Amino acid sequence: MPAHVVVRDLRKSYGEVEAVRGVSFKIEPGEIFGLLGPNGAGKTTTVECLVGLREPDSGELEVCGVDARRNPREVKQKIGVALQTTSLQDKITPREALRLFGSFYRDRVAPEVLIERFALTEKADACFDTLSGGQRQRLAIALAFVNRPQLVFLDEPTTGLDPQARRELHAAIARMKADGYTVLFTTHYLDEAEHLCDRVAIIDRGRIVAEGRPRELIAQSSAVQSVTLVTSRPLDGAKLAALPGVSAVVAEGTESRFQTSHATATLGALTAWLGELRTEVVELRVKKASLEDVFLKLTREESRAGFSPPSNEAEDQKAG
Ligand code: ATP
Repeated sequence: MPAHVVVRDLRKSYGEVEAVRGVSFKIEPGEIFGLLGPNGAGKTTTVECLVGLREPDSGELEVCGVDARRNPREVKQKIGVALQTTSLQDKITPREALRLFGSFYRDRVAPEVLIERFALTEKADACFDTLSGGQRQRLAIALAFVNRPQLVFLDEPTTGLDPQARRELHAAIARMKADGYTVLFTTHYLDEAEHLCDRVAIIDRGRIVAEGRPRELIAQSSAVQSVTLVTSRPLDGAKLAALPGVSAVVAEGTESRFQTSHATATLGALTAWLGELRTEVVELRVKKASLEDVFLKLTREESRAGFSPPSNEAEDQKAG
């Protein structure tokens, strides 16, 4: 089956600000694909170009086999979209909203099916202004499904939700995958990307800086592991720093914290050394790199490299 989304060298500027600077990626059918990036990275602009809400300056966009720049109307029949904020009339109910949105499409899902699917049964006939943030967000996503889309775009679906509401949405996204939908979602939350996405692309200042399966990115990254060690007696920080792979040692009393680029070699040498010193290990924690470490490393590297052209200065200042 051909890819559901193909983006080639997408570019979009707002006046002087180059928001998207040559972005390319593909999403295969049935994948959950995460577009990650800090504020102002260009995630929303990329999604808006794909769904036909913005005209790109250049680049090729293919959605479900359709040239999205030439035939945006055809694309709209095949996709579902939930943008960052969904405003509906205060007095409309979820059931009415689903019926109304469904009426715009030839092929549509019955409101009752979506109400059950997105756990809105209790609030199906309550006014929109009485729904909680999580319920509004679930309704927004249910609305993205009214036209039986092949592909769903969710722009920061969990921003502003409490942990319980986030978990419920995660479950809803996982069910979409089980049902065979292709999902593109943008997020600031790296933990959810790590758990939910088949593949992610990390976008920073309008460019993709890494792409792949979360586990692969973590494995490929040279991000070091952090170690916390508590011993029965204080250790000599300089000697600890001399162990293979060790860097950034902080020794405070009986607790030492350091980083290692070769955890296995470090721990082997450490055990032998502690044996010679006849010092007991009270606690030892090794924290593996997470997607967050990869993300921070990549986005910081870009800043250090002075990557930003003058045209993005205003945004850099905004980001602090
Ligand atoms: P966030 O996570 O904060 O929503 P994002 O990754 O979605 O950010 P975009 O909203 O695509 O990023 O913004 C990319 C850049 O384009 C930013 O510098 C932003 O200030 C700028 N930008 C976005 N929309 C407009 C607009 N309508 N007019 C001018 N500049 C814009």
